[in-house]
Amino acid sequence: MSRELAELLFPNVDKTLDYYENLFPERNLDKKAKVTRLGPSPTGFIHLGNLYGALVDERMAHLSGGIMLLRIEDTDDKRKVEGSEELIINSLKFFGIEFDEGVTIGGERGLYGPYRQSDRKEIYQTAAKFLTQKGLAYPSFVSEEEMAEIREQQEKEGVNTGYYGKWATDRDLSFNEIKSKINNGESWTLRLRSNGDPEVAMKFIDGIRGEITVRQNNLDVVLLKQNGIPTYHFAHVVDDHFMRITDVVRGEEWLSTLPIHLELFYVMGWRRPNYNHTAHLMKVENGNKRKLSKRKDPELSLEYYMKDGYFPQAVTEYLMTLMNSNYEEWRMKNQDKSYMEFAFKTKNMSSSGALFDLNKLNDISKDVLARISVDKIVDILISWAEKFDDKSYKLLIKYREELIKLLSIGRGGKKPRKDLMNCRQIMEFISYYFDEGFEYVDSLPERVSKEDAKVILNSYLKTYNQNDTNEEWFEKVKTITDNNGFTSNNKEFKKNPEQFKGNITDVSTAIRVAVVGRQQSPDLWNIQQIMGETRVKNRINKYLEII
Ligand code: GLU
Repeated sequence: MSRELAELLFPNVDKTLDYYENLFPERNLDKKAKVTRLGPSPTGFIHLGNLYGALVDERMAHLSGGIMLLRIEDTDDKRKVEGSEELIINSLKFFGIEFDEGVTIGGERGLYGPYRQSDRKEIYQTAAKFLTQKGLAYPSFVSEEEMAEIREQQEKEGVNTGYYGKWATDRDLSFNEIKSKINNGESWTLRLRSNGDPEVAMKFIDGIRGEITVRQNNLDVVLLKQNGIPTYHFAHVVDDHFMRITDVVRGEEWLSTLPIHLELFYVMGWRRPNYNHTAHLMKVENGNKRKLSKRKDPELSLEYYMKDGYFPQAVTEYLMTLMNSNYEEWRMKNQDKSYMEFAFKTKNMSSSGALFDLNKLNDISKDVLARISVDKIVDILISWAEKFDDKSYKLLIKYREELIKLLSIGRGGKKPRKDLMNCRQIMEFISYYFDEGFEYVDSLPERVSKEDAKVILNSYLKTYNQNDTNEEWFEKVKTITDNNGFTSNNKEFKKNPEQFKGNITDVSTAIRVAVVGRQQSPDLWNIQQIMGETRVKNRINKYLEII
């Protein structure tokens, strides 16, 4: 009866599993090489969790000399959003992740395709026909409403929900009953005829979690929906087999249905891949840990980082620290190496929730940017501004060479400045330099009155010489300080503060406010050297007009 049933359900399927076995042979790779895949659904949203998983896939594959592919899991028509594939590919590429195989923009690459699940219907149907022939799958005519009723009853009785055991009445339909229902045009789904027993517990090794216990599945899960499209359970099993995937990396939300997947590999007679279930990204809010949420946390979206111009290297660096707790120690000892040289291991990943902390990411960004050359920083600034900030783009093009000098201040030596974080923040940080949109942000230091400031700034203008060395310039500031009731002798000032209006810091800060509009900035002499005499004097004159 199984053979007849298979013909009845799949009259047009003329291929066999062997056909696909030959079409998609074992890969010719080193034994240790891992083949991984990212299987995003094209929902129009790509988030940090996707990038986190993709980086694990990428590291596993490439550290082992293997391959990483992109498979688009688009079996759910309702969730499909136009442009998602481009979004996924371009966003991941931005963060340094490129696939060796699979879906590309507008096409695909590789010998194990098609790589979009919607194009693989024939393969799933062949696998479904195989299971039906073996008596391991059957058509079920229960509607969604009937399933809801069954569920309600099960909840009332306090038993597990789902289609199984005595609830799975269509399991026992005879061939003739099935035939007449089909002839009547009743629609059906294909279900697994499960032989599992949940009383049986099995040991299972997860690549991240180590040894865990899983119970056998006994649910007659849907393999093919009414439209002949597979469920995730069935599709990923068929795909991971025929794409010759060795290692699955996916979120921990799939742990609960793992027993189904293990049974499916078993009934298909296939070797299963290794599974690596990653922990959710969590954050602490009001002292409580919770999952990052699309609705509440804008920082979950990758777009957030792209818009603010986070450097991809910084985000990757941060994710590496989240992925392996020994990464930071390695980084300390290997400042100049690429993260790709780190011996990443799934078994060193946390299984209890990876704690995401934006402040930590920001700190890491500053460290990472301190190691990137200023030329490169300016290039990245320009390509960011081109996409996200027209005004900044124009400024960056106009002042490119000066900005390279400006951002170089204080970066040499053992203790380089660590105050650059992302493109938006850098633009804000250097906004003092541009006459366009220039504003005096800070007021004078407390101990400098407007009258004193006028005297100080006028003397400064009179003695200013663009050719002065840093030392000569500083001597002049000292002289102005000591001539106007302030002191350049800090010891003296500490001993007898009441004898002075203030100290040299007050005076130099007043000058700084006049030149760059802020009480704090990188070394002022350096800035003035880059700005040029005319602009420095203009700024001071302008300030004298407004105080
Ligand atoms: N399409 C699934 C998801 O987006 C992929 C899960 C997997 O990688 O197996 O969650």
